[in-house]
Amino acid sequence: MPERTTDGAGESRFVISGLTASVGGKEILRGIDIEIGPGEVHAVMGPNGAGKSTLSHIIMGKPGYEVTGGSVTLDGVDLLAQPTWKRAQAGLFLAMQYPTEVPGVSLVDMLANSALSTTADEDELDRRLKAEADRIGFDHQFLARPLNVDLSGGEKKRNETLQLGVVKPRYAILDELDSGLDIDGLRLVARRVEAATEEDGLGVLVITHYSRLLNELKPDHVHVLAGGRIARSGGPELADELETSGYAEYVEAESRAEATAGGRPSASELDPFADPLA
Ligand code: ADP
Ligand code: MG
Repeated sequence: MPERTTDGAGESRFVISGLTASVGGKEILRGIDIEIGPGEVHAVMGPNGAGKSTLSHIIMGKPGYEVTGGSVTLDGVDLLAQPTWKRAQAGLFLAMQYPTEVPGVSLVDMLANSALSTTADEDELDRRLKAEADRIGFDHQFLARPLNVDLSGGEKKRNETLQLGVVKPRYAILDELDSGLDIDGLRLVARRVEAATEEDGLGVLVITHYSRLLNELKPDHVHVLAGGRIARSGGPELADELETSGYAEYVEAESRAEATAGGRPSASELDPFADPLA
């Protein structure tokens, strides 16, 4: 693995700049700017349907999305032009909101065959897998079972976290890593990721609805994603504020902006029999 440069302006940073994208002809992202350095934790919060998962999918190169502008770079290198495996090789990791079930392939198989696995030694890999599993309370029996098949929501999230612990990426996007986890699991998983930020300089973009995750995985910055834009950024206190106030203010601001921009259909568009002068 190439030596990581952690100093120098613009070096070793994960940068999303002016990213716009659509899916199925619908504009979802309308200009996203987020810059993450080694060891930093950025939380992205926002209402359902705001485009959070879309952002994570586009970063990792899931097919079906059209990037219409902007860039995503790692160490100044454009990632959007690269296939997913190259993005992973460059040090990017995505824990999906809904992890994929892969019948016929176990976690051990996958990590042993992964070019990302930093060890070729089977015993060493086995030792690391078990150590990582113990760290997050993940039953060893799942290591040899088909990947994510018949796992509960929380077990899948532990599984994703275990992969992160073994693969040791440089930047991780965690899409609702807390969903499905019980309180103990949430604490263990959040602590594991927080430790990676301190021990390995992992940079994190964590998508979540709840500040509980952020009590253990401490964010340096919190961003509100609403209407396809970063509506507001702040420190950790913003997460607590959102827990109390919700997203109403952002959703309302977005509706007003859309109405002003003529994005909202008129009465006659909604009802072809309506009086156009009404
Ligand atoms: P979030 O993760 O913030 O809840 P998503 O990124 O999953 O939101 O979705 C953003 C919006 O894009 C939603 O309105 C969703 O319905 C829409 N969307 C996502 N995927 C598709 C698709 N394949 N075709 C059409 N619309 C989609
Ligand atoms: Mg989502």
